[in-house]
Amino acid sequence: MSSALSTNAPADTPADATFADLGLPPALEAAISDLGFTVPSAIQAQAVPALLNGRDIVGVAQTGTGKTAAFGLPLLAAIDYDLPAVQAVVLTPTRELAMQVADAIQSFATHLPGLNVLAVYGGSPFLPQQRALARGAQVVVGTPGRVLDHLDRRTLKMDNVRFLVLDEADEMLRMGFAEDVDKVLSAAPRERQVALFSATMPPQIRRVAEQHLNRPVEITVSRQASTVTSVRQTYAVVPHRHKTGALARVLAVSPADAAIVFVRTRGAAEEVGSALIERGISAAYISGDVAQTEREKIVDRLRTGALDVLVATDVAARGLDVDRIGLVVNFDVPREPETYVHRIGRTGRAGREGEALSFVTPSEQSRLRQIERTTRQSLLQVDIPSPAEVSAHRVQTLLARTGARAELDRLDLYREAIAVHLAQNPDVDPVELLAVVTALAVGDEGPVAVQHGDDLDDALSRAHLTGGSNDRSDRPERGERRRSDTHVAGGAPRWRVAVGHRDGLQPGALVGALTGEGGLTGKDVGKIDIFGSFALVDIPAGLSADVIDRLARTRVAGRPLRIRLDSGPRPGHGASRPTHGPSRGRS
Ligand code: ADP
Ligand code: MG
Repeated sequence: MSSALSTNAPADTPADATFADLGLPPALEAAISDLGFTVPSAIQAQAVPALLNGRDIVGVAQTGTGKTAAFGLPLLAAIDYDLPAVQAVVLTPTRELAMQVADAIQSFATHLPGLNVLAVYGGSPFLPQQRALARGAQVVVGTPGRVLDHLDRRTLKMDNVRFLVLDEADEMLRMGFAEDVDKVLSAAPRERQVALFSATMPPQIRRVAEQHLNRPVEITVSRQASTVTSVRQTYAVVPHRHKTGALARVLAVSPADAAIVFVRTRGAAEEVGSALIERGISAAYISGDVAQTEREKIVDRLRTGALDVLVATDVAARGLDVDRIGLVVNFDVPREPETYVHRIGRTGRAGREGEALSFVTPSEQSRLRQIERTTRQSLLQVDIPSPAEVSAHRVQTLLARTGARAELDRLDLYREAIAVHLAQNPDVDPVELLAVVTALAVGDEGPVAVQHGDDLDDALSRAHLTGGSNDRSDRPERGERRRSDTHVAGGAPRWRVAVGHRDGLQPGALVGALTGEGGLTGKDVGKIDIFGSFALVDIPAGLSADVIDRLARTRVAGRPLRIRLDSGPRPGHGASRPTHGPSRGRS
């Protein structure tokens, strides 16, 4: 990759095409260069010249192929800026898309003073839209229903419309807009251009094209041109307050050279970025208000390896293209599947493998379904690595470097120091000493020792509760250890749930249900022991009948919790100790 911030042109770009070759007016070329677009995507390279030539087009392309600029740029080129009347209408299936497309078109029009783009959609008052139309918006982007409403009320006139776009036509038909789309197209003057885009080409869309388009140029961009394909998509259920800790662990074990963490707001970028930096991770954060030069500097550091983790808002990361990024973490699930696709497109670039991991809180899981429908791929659930896994990973990384270090030699000083130390401490076992030195080199305190069923799961559930993955807080505080020892001695209320390892239960999911549906706070939930077909959890403060009732019906790992006070014998040591779950790795 040559220049900084070069391009994130969606894949399949003809190698030598540039925006200068497409015949766009200088004001539009300047705008896209401001946006950091240098190479047109495949659909842009084909659609723009055809549309500039006055042709109708049918474009078959997936999400993330750059369709908005493919129609937005020629659309703007077709407008008479001095005429304060609607001259282009873009129909989109949803209100969010309408706003997004309107924003994008406005961003292409920064060098066209006097050009007004208006988004119109249902569920918001007519009057402001009506006023904006009366003031002379030239480009209207809207949902078919609301556009038709404006037509019926004569607040929107089509007399001067010369350019129409159907964006995501298959989606519009699927949502039942066929008739509305038809009416809007029929209301437009005969002398007009139409661009129709669709991810698929079912017969109904063909029919729309045959009826309303004039000998369209057909452009198909192959499936691989979608950014999604080379990215492994995963998610983990993480209660909100544990996200930063979980993130630190994920980053600690990730094989990726560099990562981007997406957050929704500027405040979150700063908060998460600072937390990572505090933990000694090579991280920085940017949001949309960061100056362009500053942004370029940061992206350059990311590219050269001076920086490994970038925490960014969607706006700040737009167009970012760095091959080293092997991991995208969605700290929050984006509200729009489109945003999700743009985010994960930051990885898996230049033919490399990438992973996109989304953190979801227990209540956000429905948003995942929406994303799966849009990307037509299912997301794989993974677990946040446990502190033990983080330590093990660090040890492995350290040991992997020993060969090269040994080769370098120059170890005499160390050999001697160890010989002296062993001579002075004859009781010390060399392997033991090596373990201690390794622990010091790894720099964490190591996972919690196994006792009283204090196994990996326990450590993980504690970490969930103590909120951190700052390696210190992963370790139970002394007081806490004592508290759970008292439980073992037989005092505090333990609760039994009818879900266990056999169902793939992870402590995080149980904590999620208790704090989500159950309305408890992390502090209310104590030690968790997971067994084959059930699990035990300490809830010192007890549960109200109301909460028990709600939790009885709550499903975790696909099964109802059926929570009740545990009356059975406490698990002792040895045979009845909790079993370790299946590998908790992220694969
Ligand atoms: P689609 O509508 O096909 O899903 P979009 O038009 O929303 O795709 O574009 C996807 C992303 O790619 C957007 O963030 C956009 O800014 C960016 N993008 C589009 N074309 C280019 C380009 N030629 N160079 C760099 N980035 C681009
Ligand atoms: Mg689009």
